Amino acid sequence: MKRDGMLRQARERVESWDIVIVGGGATGAGVAVDAATRGYATLLLEQHDFGKGTSSRSTKLVHGGVRYLEQGNVSLVMEALKERGLLRQNAPHLVSELPFIVPSYAWWEGPFYGIGLKVYQALSGKYGFGPSKLISKEETLRRLPNVNPEGLTGGVVYYDGQFDDTRLLINLVATAAEQGATLLNYAKVTALHKGGDGVVNGVAWENVETGESFHARAKVVVNATGPFTDSVRHLAEPDAVKMIAPSQGAHLVLDRSFLPGANAIMVPHTSDGRVMFAIPWHGHTLVGTTDTPMTQAPLEPVALDQEIEFMLETASLYLEKKPGRADILSVFAGIRPLAKSGHGSNTAALSRDHTIQIDPSGLLSIAGGKWTTYRNMAQDCVDQAATLADLPEKACLTRTLNIHGYHPNAASFGPLSFYGSDAPAIRQLIDEDASRGLQLDPELPYGAAEVVWAAREEMARTVEDVLARRTRALFLNAKAAIRMAPRVAALLARELGRDAKWQAEQVENFNQTAAGYLVRDQI
Ligand SMILES: Cc1cc2nc3c(=O)[nH]c(=O)nc-3n(C[C@H](O)[C@H](O)[C@H](O)COP(=O)(O)OP(=O)(O)OC[C@H]3O[C@@H](n4cnc5c(N)ncnc54)[C@H](O)[C@@H]3O)c2cc1C
Repeated sequence: MKRDGMLRQARERVESWDIVIVGGGATGAGVAVDAATRGYATLLLEQHDFGKGTSSRSTKLVHGGVRYLEQGNVSLVMEALKERGLLRQNAPHLVSELPFIVPSYAWWEGPFYGIGLKVYQALSGKYGFGPSKLISKEETLRRLPNVNPEGLTGGVVYYDGQFDDTRLLINLVATAAEQGATLLNYAKVTALHKGGDGVVNGVAWENVETGESFHARAKVVVNATGPFTDSVRHLAEPDAVKMIAPSQGAHLVLDRSFLPGANAIMVPHTSDGRVMFAIPWHGHTLVGTTDTPMTQAPLEPVALDQEIEFMLETASLYLEKKPGRADILSVFAGIRPLAKSGHGSNTAALSRDHTIQIDPSGLLSIAGGKWTTYRNMAQDCVDQAATLADLPEKACLTRTLNIHGYHPNAASFGPLSFYGSDAPAIRQLIDEDASRGLQLDPELPYGAAEVVWAAREEMARTVEDVLARRTRALFLNAKAAIRMAPRVAALLARELGRDAKWQAEQVENFNQTAAGYLVRDQI
């Protein structure tokens, strides 16, 4: 993954690309992997950094979605459970099995949720994770030392998958690149070109770093811009009826002491009728999420005060040591690109299935779905794109394709386990200069080696790229990330050949973004 090389490939190609993908989130990167492995000439353009949109802001679950079962969407759950199994098989360095406990506070809750979770387990068939079972009050307290003991009668255990969303995304970008795709961050699509027949046959794009404009010809353009789907559709057809209903979901990150141990909590029915989780993630506790209909989709959404209060209140019902605003280390929000249905305002009830829409202009838009189902979505999308563009028919190969970083025993790399097969190369950076192994902040496990690696091998261009998406510093502890920013700017400047002015601007820009990850009274 070298941006200069990618830029050269994108600028120098005169013939038409088979597929041009707009958007570098889970959906776009998945489509790039699928298209490139089928041998199609593939270009992906992302306006900001890979994963800047929704794909860095998930609950970090590789799951079938217990809630969708409750809603009766059995086919969606079965599909997602199968994809959960395939993802663990193809990226074992990133996907791990996590036990979830549903604590029971009424006699009927154990049997009721126990039966539902048995069905959930059965639907996964041969792709199953661990078995679900009822556990006693004592066992629940042993596994969840901070669960609220008052009125507790027992619990139900079930298993789902957990991952790091942006690590998987960067690994998907690397996989697509290894398969021959060209992928660029900081490359914004500004216009869609049409031929005399009115059909989209290319894009205009801007290198956001330099302001230069370029054109790329395409046999088919795939719009994979998530919450921004309609704005890209409107580049081709200003009057196109909107297909996306944006809905915001927020998360809080707390210290590990709120959820000690290796088990997550699942609350099956919050006061607003949703599911909420408390999950151990990178040595912290992740709490979420909410579902708030929005009229707009900002690139950097900010959690609303009422979302923060709701999550604190719900967590406090289930935890003995109760979190308050001062305990929040980071708060982040993401926008779900849900496919619209009618004029209802309840986005929680909207389908999480993916939608593919082909407009009269021939622009193919794919939106909705889940991180977990990105591979299946990509297969569906490339099948349809190939038909639309009359590309030679090629079978999808991603069911058994190892994702970059694949390693059967990545745990042996300790804190670098998430890098999988890249971990030895990062260790090598530390062997060359031991200071690169020192923590940049005492509260987070990251050192200079990860920054150097991100700049050299993962197309990180800014302090935010490193602290928000190559590492997860900003999402884990916003104040610690702010403290790390000047050192990261200096390291990046050295790698990318930037001056002191650039460093100062980077720190300033990062601090502005990071303010959105602090609760108001902490700024
Ligand atoms: C709160 C929340 C929790 C979730 N939790 C889970 C979970 O635990 N498990 C799970 O499986 N799923 C989860 N999801 C769903 C999952 O995160 C999304 O389905 C997925 O990330 C959507 O990816 P995407 O690529 O479609 O959109 P995005 O990630 O938003 O990517 C779209 C990209 O398009 C780019 N773009 C826009 N306009 C242009 C342009 N003109 N030119 C170039 N690029 C452009 C944007 O910058 C953006 O990076 C969650 C979603 C939310 C909101």
